[in-house]
Amino acid sequence: MPKKIVILGGGTAGWIAANLFIRKWSAEQALVSLIESPDIGIIGVGEGSTPFLERFFKMIDVVDEQWMPRCNATYKLSIRFSGWSPGSGIEDYSHPFLSQVDHFTENAFVKNCRTRRLGVDVHTYPDDFFINGVLARDGKGPRASENFPFIIGYGYHFDAGLLGQYLAEVGVSRGVTHLQRKIVDVERHEDGDIAALVSDGGERIEADVFVDCTGFASLLMQKSLGVKFESFKSNLFNDSAVVMPTPASDTPPAETVSFAMSNGWCWKIPLTNRYGNGYVYSSDFISADDAETELRTFLGTLDSDEPARHLKMNVGQLEKHWEKNCLALGLSQGFIEPLEATALLLVQIAVEVFIAKYEQGDFSAKHRDEYNEKIHERFERVRDYIVAHYKLNTRGDSEYWKANSDNMELSDSLRHILDVWYRRGDLTAEVQRQDIESHFTSLSWHCLLSGYGAYPPLAPDQPNIGDLYKDNNVSKFLAGCALNFDLHRQNLAKLQEKVT
Ligand SMILES: Cc1cc2nc3c(=O)[nH]c(=O)nc-3n(C[C@H](O)[C@H](O)[C@H](O)COP(=O)(O)OP(=O)(O)OC[C@H]3O[C@@H](n4cnc5c(N)ncnc54)[C@H](O)[C@@H]3O)c2cc1C
Repeated sequence: MPKKIVILGGGTAGWIAANLFIRKWSAEQALVSLIESPDIGIIGVGEGSTPFLERFFKMIDVVDEQWMPRCNATYKLSIRFSGWSPGSGIEDYSHPFLSQVDHFTENAFVKNCRTRRLGVDVHTYPDDFFINGVLARDGKGPRASENFPFIIGYGYHFDAGLLGQYLAEVGVSRGVTHLQRKIVDVERHEDGDIAALVSDGGERIEADVFVDCTGFASLLMQKSLGVKFESFKSNLFNDSAVVMPTPASDTPPAETVSFAMSNGWCWKIPLTNRYGNGYVYSSDFISADDAETELRTFLGTLDSDEPARHLKMNVGQLEKHWEKNCLALGLSQGFIEPLEATALLLVQIAVEVFIAKYEQGDFSAKHRDEYNEKIHERFERVRDYIVAHYKLNTRGDSEYWKANSDNMELSDSLRHILDVWYRRGDLTAEVQRQDIESHFTSLSWHCLLSGYGAYPPLAPDQPNIGDLYKDNNVSKFLAGCALNFDLHRQNLAKLQEKVT
């Protein structure tokens, strides 16, 4: 086991890593320290998660009642994409997180999608086939009455700054050493490994494993070790964001909404005390000033004094995520833009795979290479899913959207998925063949392709096969299940009650 791990950076990535390392290796007496500079601060966005974050809290033995009220958090059941495919007549669709109970209805969805690909008019709106789509639509939360016999998958919305502070408290209480220092120099051993970090006060901090969580600065990996950055610009054009909050609503929805804008998209994330909003756009197509004006017009805040924050994003990934005795996590290792809120999921996976590989072979080149290959591949396959959103849009109302749908810079993996879909093949088998089910499931791909209406025109003389959706009684079944759930705001109120 490593004797001493030093994490540089105290954003969400740094604190997730610190908590996972101390949990895993404290029994072996490993020392875990986290250094951050309050002068530099954190990025302060990144407020939506996938269900993987629930797994993180389980791993560190923290329950919703403990952390959610402290971080103004709400439950997230799906992401709704609004205005991305008007050309197919689809106003919006949701990509719900999957749950155990969906096993009863997923076949109906897949069958309907296949039938619709044959040109027959059957129902393929993803929201109606999955419990979380129904709950989100009805304003209900994921916490069922005690006797509900299925596990419901859910993610969260949260305040990024408060989550960092909460995780810092937990980490420190379990033995993480927290240092506030600005690092200005990095000392290397003769073999190229990092020997020590040097603070602006001249203090040397040594370790055997260093973890770069310095955000887009990538201080250790890119600046010190010279690891190359591979840009995703060829098919993910967005490189900027402008963000601003708006007041909370009494009934916060249990989903993130992603609204298509003239040159990108805007997230709307409901917290208990505010909405987080941000317009993610490409600076090649719209200026920062125009993007801010468009965002304010959209939010109805043109006359508000509330300042907007402008951010630049490095979209891409490092060529290697583990180099020498240094690991990169979070924005310092790469970023695939926030459309599916996958960044923290990738941090968790990277830490878990690192722990497994390190335990198998310390710093052996074999295990490091295997790690790099696995994490690199995961970034690429998540990238495919995000690229598909842009490729399949049917807006065509700006050069930006046209450039996205015309773009042919697609990976082989994505080409095969689209090819199987349009040839009316078995998409589930293709996802299994490529072994990419753990990145985005076949059902997620079905939701996306249906959500964009990626279907052939309807056949003129349709056989009367009935509506498979109705025949399978999906709506009745799900409506029955959904009765067991409280409204989302009741779920949140119950969390608050348990805070003493
Ligand atoms: C517009 C936008 C929207 C996003 N939305 C989502 C989302 O919905 N869901 C999601 O999962 N992710 C999202 N992300 C990504 C998410 O913000 C990050 O993955 C997450 O916040 C973790 O960031 P980080 O810890 O890597 O970096 P940061 O938060 O930037 O932290 C960097 C840390 O490094 C420290 N540091 C830097 N240099 C030094 C130095 N020289 N000395 C000492 N300390 C130093 C800083 O003090 C800070 O503590 C979004 C990102 C962007 C840009």
